[in-house]
Amino acid sequence: MVINSKKLNSLIKKIFLAMQCSKEETRVITHHLVTANLMGHDSHGVGMVPIYVKNFHEKILFPNITPKLTKDDRSMIVFNGQRGFGQSVANLAIKEGINRCKDTGLVLMGINNSGHMGRIGTYGEQCAKENLISIHFVNVTDRSPSVAPFGGTEARFGTNPICIAMPRASKVDPIVLDFATSKVAVGKIRVAINKGEELPDGWVIDHSGKPSNDPRVMEQHIYPNEKSDIPEGAVLPMGDYKGFGLSLFCEILGGIMSGGTTIQPNHERLGGVINNMMSLIIDPKHLVKNSSLNDELEHLIHYIKSSPSTKKDFPVVLPGELERKKLSHRLKNGITIDDETFEQILKAGESLNIKRNSLKE
Ligand code: NAD
Repeated sequence: MVINSKKLNSLIKKIFLAMQCSKEETRVITHHLVTANLMGHDSHGVGMVPIYVKNFHEKILFPNITPKLTKDDRSMIVFNGQRGFGQSVANLAIKEGINRCKDTGLVLMGINNSGHMGRIGTYGEQCAKENLISIHFVNVTDRSPSVAPFGGTEARFGTNPICIAMPRASKVDPIVLDFATSKVAVGKIRVAINKGEELPDGWVIDHSGKPSNDPRVMEQHIYPNEKSDIPEGAVLPMGDYKGFGLSLFCEILGGIMSGGTTIQPNHERLGGVINNMMSLIIDPKHLVKNSSLNDELEHLIHYIKSSPSTKKDFPVVLPGELERKKLSHRLKNGITIDDETFEQILKAGESLNIKRNSLKE
């Protein structure tokens, strides 16, 4: 089905309000999720709602959590997200990081024990809006791993995303590099399972380490409470050993240095999604003059984009550009949601005593 973003927003809001999220928390989470869909990252959009509702019922994900400041050295701060909804926890913590960075010029910030933070680019954009550069390393815990280390056949990592965002001169969109260190985000495999589609070559291996195109090799990982006859495989790291190395540093920086934990199995796994994030926020004006930075950056971008494209009608684009193109297209034409995902959202609403007809209104 194709649904208008405003309608989707109001449907999803009802679900978060039913979980007792405050109006403001509901607004932040819903806006984050629908924007992820609008930007083309359906893996981190409203399709996550049934998982959040399930974790809410299991009492491993909590509404209305204010991140708790546990270390404070002005420019070095650590927050405990206390298993709150990650989109809200990270939004509040990053706000504080931004405030401090305006004063100190540089902030190193850990957020540990947060619920799923969703699309990490959101936090890069939040900093870029305030003319700040930011770098974010994130790990994923509380559940079994999904990504094999380079050369391994069994999973040992989550999809551990990294984001680097750079503001540009006023009114020009920032550069936002935001990706999972796995070949693909697990959410995209969930979407393929729900749609009954095959995966492209090189995304996953089966339980024996052989290349596979069947998304159901990740079914046990994605839907642990449902029966699957397919033995569990793993997602491959992006860029072979390079992605593997970056993922390892997401564990070290995002997991350990944020005051959180890594995915190693001595830690209890409750079956939720915990994100730990280490963020470095930089005010560039403490390093270089605004005018020379903007001038050099725009010359660089012009030079990069002048490279003749390999395919007609596919010019060189900067990180973040395709997402913004998708956003304006989907704002106009609506968001496509597959039937299975939509049904899961309606069922999640019903589990909170919301009638499906009132959700669709
Ligand atoms: P992806 O493979 O689509 O890569 C996205 C990045 O690559 C973006 O910066 C995009 O602008 C850039 N890009 C894509 N095509 C490009 C092109 N042709 N030229 C230049 N740049 C291009 O994304 P992904 O790895 O599937 O990750 C999707 C989302 O999932 C991200 O937002 C990420 O933060 C999120 N994620 C979150 C978690 C979590 O635990 N919270 C885990 C994994 C992923």
